[in-house]
Amino acid sequence: MSHALDTPILVLADLDDAGHPTGAALELLAAARSLGPQAIALVLGDAAAASAVGPALATAGATRLLAAAVPALAGCAADAVAAGAQATGAAAVLVTSDYRGKEIAGRAAVLLGSAASSDLADLRLAEGGDALTGAKLVLSGSWSTTSELALGGPAPVIAVRPGAYEAVADGIAELTPEVLEVAPAAESVAVELVESERSAAAAGPELTEARTVVVGGRGVDGDFDLVRSLAEPLGAAVGATRVACDEGWIERSAQVGQTGVSVSPRLYIGLGVSGAVHHTSGIQGAQAIVAVCDDSEAPIFEMADFGVVGDVGEVVPQMVAELARLRG
Ligand SMILES: Cc1cc2nc3c(=O)[nH]c(=O)nc-3n(C[C@H](O)[C@H](O)[C@H](O)COP(=O)(O)OP(=O)(O)OC[C@H]3O[C@@H](n4cnc5c(N)ncnc54)[C@H](O)[C@@H]3O)c2cc1C
Repeated sequence: MSHALDTPILVLADLDDAGHPTGAALELLAAARSLGPQAIALVLGDAAAASAVGPALATAGATRLLAAAVPALAGCAADAVAAGAQATGAAAVLVTSDYRGKEIAGRAAVLLGSAASSDLADLRLAEGGDALTGAKLVLSGSWSTTSELALGGPAPVIAVRPGAYEAVADGIAELTPEVLEVAPAAESVAVELVESERSAAAAGPELTEARTVVVGGRGVDGDFDLVRSLAEPLGAAVGATRVACDEGWIERSAQVGQTGVSVSPRLYIGLGVSGAVHHTSGIQGAQAIVAVCDDSEAPIFEMADFGVVGDVGEVVPQMVAELARLRG
């Protein structure tokens, strides 16, 4: 590495429902370690919870572990992030760029008196080491821009696009959590999570983190069982176009695109999706795009790596059967 930060980067390491670090959290550690040798993982939980995930975080590149026993809601998380950045003198903070992460980034940056930026990928230390740069797609993915965040003052808070980094497994194996005392602000604790229920759409892997995403559009005509029949054997998350959500065929949380979530899978499969720019702006990070659509003129074929012009009702069962055959 020609330039490396000599101050640590603080990473908010989110845990999933089972108490394991999310895939995106492990990717953040890879991002931090690409910038310098010190990555501090901040876990929202008590020392025992942090201890339990210490080995996984250490293997993914964490060199220090902080435990802040506050609720994981955005307000308290932002309070913890700001306290962690101040206590450690971190150069910058990385959080996951999902709805919650973006809220945390904004709130924490206000608390720190620093800058926030979201949806960044490809973080680099600028020449001279006084700033971080990151790539960001804007205007429905039609432009790639570079954002620059100054270092040396209060730590900027950067929400990193899930899927932008590959998690690594080469760190040290042992980490002992240090307790970070955080006194959440009154307005942060005024919000309480009363109940949470995982939606049917989220039965598979997390949409924003999935390596494979299968999206159903208007062309599936309400048949999301067809979409799931392909998603399940691929271990893929199920997404949808706005039309499919508007029709009530699937929960709104499954919407991919400009007004939905952005996905960065290795493989995106669009079924009966025309490829409107409002949708494709959310799949710019996909490494390979496969489309099945009965209109050979549909714009999705302009960006597809592999396209099938055909009826989803005929093509998808053949794909499922072929997958089963290949897997014996
Ligand atoms: C401000 C704004 C924000 C928006 N945000 C989003 C967003 O976040 N996400 C989003 O998805 N959209 C968004 N939209 C809507 C977007 O512009 C499109 O209308 C939408 O993406 C189209 O969805 P679709 O591809 O499912 O439907 P269509 O465009 O109708 O395409 C369906 C395709 O399926 C094909 N088809 C039909 N039957 C079959 C069959 N049996 N087999 C195979 N193919 C078949 C058709 O030929 C067609 O090409 C937004 C629009 C606006 C104005």
